Amino acid sequence: MTGTHHYFLIAACKNSRGDAPLKIFDAHCDVLSKLLENPGLDFEHEPELLDVTLDKMKTSGIGVQNFAVYLPEKDAGDFRRVLESVDLFHQRIASNRYMRLIRSKDDLRLVMESGRIGVMLSLEGVDALQGNLTYVRILFQLGVRSIGVTWNHANWAADGVMEPRGGGFTAKGKQLINECNRLGIVLDAAHLSEKGFWELAELSDKPFIVSHANAKQICGHARNLNNKQITELIRAGGVMGVTFVPPFVQSEQPVTMDKLLMHIDHICSLGGSRHIGLGSDFDGITEWIAGLEHAGKYGRLVELLQKHYSEEDVEHFVYKNWTHFYMRHLPEAPAE
Ligand SMILES: [Zn+2]
Repeated sequence: MTGTHHYFLIAACKNSRGDAPLKIFDAHCDVLSKLLENPGLDFEHEPELLDVTLDKMKTSGIGVQNFAVYLPEKDAGDFRRVLESVDLFHQRIASNRYMRLIRSKDDLRLVMESGRIGVMLSLEGVDALQGNLTYVRILFQLGVRSIGVTWNHANWAADGVMEPRGGGFTAKGKQLINECNRLGIVLDAAHLSEKGFWELAELSDKPFIVSHANAKQICGHARNLNNKQITELIRAGGVMGVTFVPPFVQSEQPVTMDKLLMHIDHICSLGGSRHIGLGSDFDGITEWIAGLEHAGKYGRLVELLQKHYSEEDVEHFVYKNWTHFYMRHLPEAPAE
C-alpha cells in the first residue's frame, strides 16, 4: 500500500517544543457497550452521545485506544453477547482504515511508527465465560489481550470490590490466572476486591495492570487503590491508568482537572512516575471532569501536565508507560 503513513494530521496535543505531536494511550473505554445497545450510533462522527469517536480521537491524537467488552448486568452471563461485542469491534472499529488492531509486539511497533490509531480489545468481567477456559482461548484468538477479572460484584473467578464478603479468587479463578499468563493475556485488577488484588500479585507470573482507578489516599472511594497496592503494582512492573470518573477523583462534585493531577502527584511520590497511564472510562461514565468531557479534549489535560512536569514525564504518563508495558508483555507474533 502507498500513502498509508499520513492518513491524517494529529492536531491537538503538542509537546512543549511545539514540534511533534504527542500521542495519547487510553487503557479503558466503554464505547462498545453503547454500540451494542444502540447499533445505530455513528462511531465515526457522533457528536453528543459518544465520548469516544473517530473524530474525537483524531482531534486529540490518540495513538492507542483500548476498547472493553462490558455487558450490562442483565446480559452478564451470556457469552453470545460477548461474541456480538467482539464482532462489533472488528466490524465497526478495527477494520476502519484509520485504525490498526494490536495483537502483538510487531503490531504495536507498526502502530507507533505510523499515523494510524492502534486499537486493542479487552474484556471487563469474566462472568460470561462461565468458568470455561476454552472461551478464554477463543477470546485470545479473537484479539483480546487483557482481561479484567471482575466488575464490581462476585463472579465464578473472584470477588469484585463491592462484594460485601470481600473474598479473593476461587479455584477456577486461579486456573484463569494461569491460562492468561500462558496465552499472553494481561490481567487487570480494576474492580477486583483487595483480597483478590493480593492473590493476583502472588499468583501471577507476569506483571498485571489496573486499567482504570485512582489513589485512595487522595479520594477514599472503594474502587481506588491504597498506598500498599500502588507500591506493589510499581514493584511488580505493572501500570495503573488514572481514571476520569468524577467520584473516583474527588467525593465532592464538580471535579476539575487539578484534582486529577493530585492523584498523579501522589502516585509519583510513591515512585510510580514510570507506572502511571491514562484509563479514561469514557462512555462508561455519566458525569465528567470539567474540561475533560470526551476523547477530543486530552489537549487541555496535556497542557496542565506540562505546567507541572517535564516533557519526558508527560510523554510517559500519557503514552509511553503503557506502550513500554505492552512492548514487553504482548505476544511476539499475531495469533494465527
Ligand atoms: Zn470499569
